[in-house]
Order: sequence, then structure tokens, then C-alpha cells
Amino acid sequence: MRLYSTNGISDGVTFLEAAESGLAPDGGLYMPESLPALSLPFNDPESAGNLTLQEISKQVSRLFLSDSLSTKEIDELIDDAITMKAPLLKLKDNLFVLELFHGPTLAFKDFGARFMARLFSKHRSVSTKKLIILVATSGDTGGAVANGFYNLDGVNVCLLFPKGKVSDIQRKQMTTLGNNITALEIEGTFDDCQRLVKQAFSDDNLNGTLRLSSANSINVARLLPQSFYFIHAWFQLKKFTHKNPVFVVPSGNFGNLTAGLMAEKMGMPVSAFVAATNRNKVVPEYLEGAEFSPRTSIQTISNAMDVGNPSNFSRIRALYNEDDEAIRHHIKGYSFTDDSTLSMIRKVYEKYNYITDPHTAIGLLAAEEYRKDYDKNAPRIVLSTAHPSKFLDVVEPEINGKVSIPKRLSNAILEDEMSFPLSSCYSEFKRVILNAFDT
Ligand SMILES: *Cc1c(COP(=O)(O)O)cnc(C)c1O
Repeated sequence: MRLYSTNGISDGVTFLEAAESGLAPDGGLYMPESLPALSLPFNDPESAGNLTLQEISKQVSRLFLSDSLSTKEIDELIDDAITMKAPLLKLKDNLFVLELFHGPTLAFKDFGARFMARLFSKHRSVSTKKLIILVATSGDTGGAVANGFYNLDGVNVCLLFPKGKVSDIQRKQMTTLGNNITALEIEGTFDDCQRLVKQAFSDDNLNGTLRLSSANSINVARLLPQSFYFIHAWFQLKKFTHKNPVFVVPSGNFGNLTAGLMAEKMGMPVSAFVAATNRNKVVPEYLEGAEFSPRTSIQTISNAMDVGNPSNFSRIRALYNEDDEAIRHHIKGYSFTDDSTLSMIRKVYEKYNYITDPHTAIGLLAAEEYRKDYDKNAPRIVLSTAHPSKFLDVVEPEINGKVSIPKRLSNAILEDEMSFPLSSCYSEFKRVILNAFDT
């Protein structure tokens, strides 16, 4: 498997090399030159029997990693990384929720972070320089990556999060572990955090001293494991209906949606994709026919989706050979305000006795709009990207009750926090990481 850079200048690399470098040297994102066809029975799902998430994960991974790891190593990696379940829950006819929050930090990002961390521990390149994983986070990535990489030998993680713009629990998940996990509290927005990380990757001087990589969804190793649960959801749906699903994806940087598109290219039949966003809506606007125009992000109650310049957009265009019309035909977009989000949380609770977090609520809103606009009878699968207990301040007033907090989360609440405040100025950031990591 060879991967190319979407900027077209850097040389092709293996999946493992792409994972280790994160961003390509020319600043582009790595994408597979062609997506391999999965040998799963999409034509005859009954014959699949009870195909598990782990079995699917192994089959997909072998297609991408067999030039670098043995089958045994790949299987061990999956057994170790993909330990959580991803159940498909039926809310009503043709409306399903895919719960992706059963991992250790209660967000779908656990899939990508755990896979990446174990990939790095299976294979460490010959370089003797310490590996520093830089991560810009609007909330959930930081916790998932910190948890996935905690105590991993020879790897340091440096998290950048926007001050005051993440929930208490999200902050605690990043700042209470310590050891090889360093948290920087940036005076600015998520876009500032992302800009600092991107600038660090293109800084030759810095890269001469430190070996930097990324665990944001610019890293292709984050995306691949996200395709596993799309495929697993597809097979779970077949217990309810023979129709092909519409996947509704609450989106920020559009890594999750890109992973779904990759699964489709590998052979999974999909009726349509729906991109659901909060008021940070550059992609829905583009899907409606406007130019793609990145801008500063706006703060909302679905903060993990507060992204003004979605980094995976270039991957989506690459998957479609830059054919904007084809993209607009197959992917529909909707955006929603905080008020609509809150009323959806209340409505879902009243109607189905189901508690949903604000990101998933945006997906449910989009699923409703899609049904009105396009297809009354298509089975829609909404990806539930986080557990409601991560957003207590938002959710509890709407349901007028308590959300029970899973134990693995309540443990983090008791621990002491440790983070470093920093401006969003690049030279200051660079000085701090050189001081911290250049030993
Ligand atoms: C990260 C995140 C998203 C957005 O996912 P992308 O892959 O960046 O589009 C949505 N919901 C939650 C809860 C998240 O943590």
C-alpha cells in the first residue's frame, strides 16, 4: 500500500511511514493511492453470520499494514486497541444511533487514538530522537490521545487546547495524567491551536531537533480505524433492513466522514452521507454550491465541532478527484444553532427516553431534515460521537435530571490538574517545546 500527499510534491510512503510523519513534508495530507477492495460479503450479508467489530478491523488493517507488520502483529494490535463495542441502537423505524462512546474517554476518538498508539508501540522507527506527538484539540481529541499514549515508552504527547473553550471533564482528561503527557492551555481558539501545530510541522529548524508527529485527524492512522465501525454498523443494520444506510455524521474536522467515504470506496454500499455541523458551517455551505471558504471558528455548545477550517476537506476532494458536483450529489449538509441543539436533546429524551450529547443531537437534527428533503424511507444511522456525561452543563438542564457518570470518567474528576498557560504566538510555543523536549 502506497500513500501520496494531497499537495502532490512529497514522495509516496507506506502506511506506517505516513502514520509516523503525520503531515507530509510538503504540507499535504497522506491518502492511499488507491483503496483496496474488502473481501466482505456486502452482496450477501446473511452469509457473514455474526461478523464482529474486531474481525472487520483485522481484515481492513491487513490491507493497509501487511507491507510493514505480520498478520500476527496486526491481529494483536487490533485485539489490544479495539476493545470497546460500537452497538447500533434503534430509536424508531429507519432511525438508528451508532454509539461510539464506549471507549475509555467516552468519545469516538478512542478508536483512532488507541489504534495509533498501539501501532507506534508495535513499530518504532530506527531514529533515536524522542518522538513528540503534537495534538491540537477542541475538546475530545486531547483526552483520547492522552489516554491512548499514556506511559508509552519513548513517546511524548503535547496537547494544545483553547483556554476556557473545553468542558471541565474534557480538560481534566487532558491535564490529570502527567508523566509523558503535557498539556498547553492556549490563549486563543482551536484554530489557533491547529495553526501552531501546522506551523511546527513545517518548521525545518524545529524538525531538525525534534521528531514530530501528529495524532490529529490529519494523521491517516487516526482515520483508518474509524472506517471499522462504519462497516460494522452496515452489517448490524442488516438485522433490521435490507436497504442501504444513509450515514449522518456530526462533523468538525471531517475525519469521521472521510473514514466513512473510505469504507464506501472499499466496497460498502451507502445510499448517502450527511454532514451535520453547528454554526461552523463552511462545508454545508460548500455542499449547497458556495465556494469553500474557511474562516475563524465560532464557539458553540458542541465544542468538539467548532472548526472553521476543516483539515480533512482536501481528502474528501481527493477521494472524488476534485469533482465538486459528484461530492454535492452524494453528500448533503446541514447546520444548526445551539437553540435547536438544546431542543433536540429535550425532544429525544421526552420521545425515546434516550439521553444524547450536543454533538449527537446535531446529527439527529440533520437526520430529520434529510428525511424531509430527500427520502422518507431510507434507514438513517446517526453516529453518536460522545457520551452525554461529558457535557453535563448542557445536557442536565434540558432533561431536567441527572446524567449518570461512568466510573472511568468520574475517576478523572478527583485527580489534580497540571497545564501550562501560553499565548497563541508561534515563537513562544516553539521556545516552550524546545525547552521541554530537547534533551
Ligand atoms: C471530534 C468530534 C467530532 C468531530 O469529528 P471530526 O472527525 O473532526 O469531524 C464530533 N463530535 C465529537 C464528540 C467529537 O469529539
